[in-house]
Amino acid sequence: MDTTQLLEFDRKHLWHPYASMTEPPPVNFAVSASGTKIRLADGSELLDGVSSWWCMCHGHNHPKIVAAIREQAAKLSQVMFAGFTHEPAIRLAQLLVESAPAGLTRVFYADSGSVAVECAAKMALQYQLAAGRGSRRLLGTVRGGYHGDTAGAMALSDPDGMHHMFSGILSKHHFAPQPATPFGADWNPDDFAPMEAMLDRYENEIAAVILEPVFQGASAMRFYHPRYLAELRRACSERDILLIFDEVATGFGRLGEFFAAEYAKVSPDLMCVGKGLTGGAIGLAALLASDKVAETISAVPPGKFMHGPTFMANPLACAAGCASLELFSEYDWRGNVKAIERQLRSELEELRNLPNVKDVRTLGAVGVAELASTPSPETVQRIVRETGVWLRPFGPWLYTMPPFVASPEELTRITRAMRAIALA
Ligand SMILES: *Cc1c(COP(=O)(O)O)cnc(C)c1O
Repeated sequence: MDTTQLLEFDRKHLWHPYASMTEPPPVNFAVSASGTKIRLADGSELLDGVSSWWCMCHGHNHPKIVAAIREQAAKLSQVMFAGFTHEPAIRLAQLLVESAPAGLTRVFYADSGSVAVECAAKMALQYQLAAGRGSRRLLGTVRGGYHGDTAGAMALSDPDGMHHMFSGILSKHHFAPQPATPFGADWNPDDFAPMEAMLDRYENEIAAVILEPVFQGASAMRFYHPRYLAELRRACSERDILLIFDEVATGFGRLGEFFAAEYAKVSPDLMCVGKGLTGGAIGLAALLASDKVAETISAVPPGKFMHGPTFMANPLACAAGCASLELFSEYDWRGNVKAIERQLRSELEELRNLPNVKDVRTLGAVGVAELASTPSPETVQRIVRETGVWLRPFGPWLYTMPPFVASPEELTRITRAMRAIALA
């Protein structure tokens, strides 16, 4: 089959994310990728302004990660993790524990960010059951969150967001308002009061509080004051409610610190990681837990955590994860992210006064222009084609999360393309 026939089959038979099956949106036919570029079947290239959904921190097809997968594939590509272990899983856990906020010493591998969130919720419930607080069967969170597309994760995401039509099958968790003080602004102590009041009121129902630290991604594209997290840490500890950070989007340097938790100088009891864990090369996620959680669950019958994905700790994915985490000590990623932040800030600031731009915000390797009106898919598609820059705004949020290896010239191409979309 030639490309045209393959695309024809794709249109008729393949579902793409958040897409119609009868009126499918156009798709780019990718054939290879390296660094910041994705090459298409027609020979053209797209500059990846969104790191393929925020994952590809070191760029596409990094030779070290590719070699790690290749070497591992020749030895052991999969073995069930019940009754077996292997070196990539062990080494990756070592690297994760070393780089995670203090106290997160136990690692549970999952297949995707959503599944890591499901596991966190289950672990929190099992913890409270084991601690003799069986009435704590719900979670607390904040509005404007996003935790994934599986049922448990949808129930924790913004109730007015893209999942509202499924509300009939979702648990009714407790929601506090969105953290209000922006990152970098003066902390307003009143900001935390509604969360504190919610925890007081529902203390006997809430097993854990989950949220995305510092940056609310897919549901809000907004940065908030890390002091909120310090207050939340205190408030949860006072009530023995667990604190879960969903670092699936923020982990691995995206915001300028290795984990966003570092901005608040606190450790959660549970932490979900995914997306950038393998440098974007292959799907993998993990849930990190404290000794307290692991020991409490293990001390009381059934004495075990009741979850076990079929492809748990897949050796290829773990090998990619090891290579990606090692890469962080092989180049100055912090310097790169700082430079990306400076450039995005200065170039996106120039969009602030455009009539269709409501707000501009940047932190680390994330740049967001919030538009007054949502650009049409046709407009975005045209500008992607004209500029050769791959952007995929959702709703009013036009954003970039470039690979950390993007050059200043490439960043300028990205911000120019964003400007073109904002002006269209
Ligand atoms: C993307 C994302 C998820 C879901 O991860 P998947 O791998 O798509 O299941 C969960 N939480 C956050 C914060 C995310 O950004």
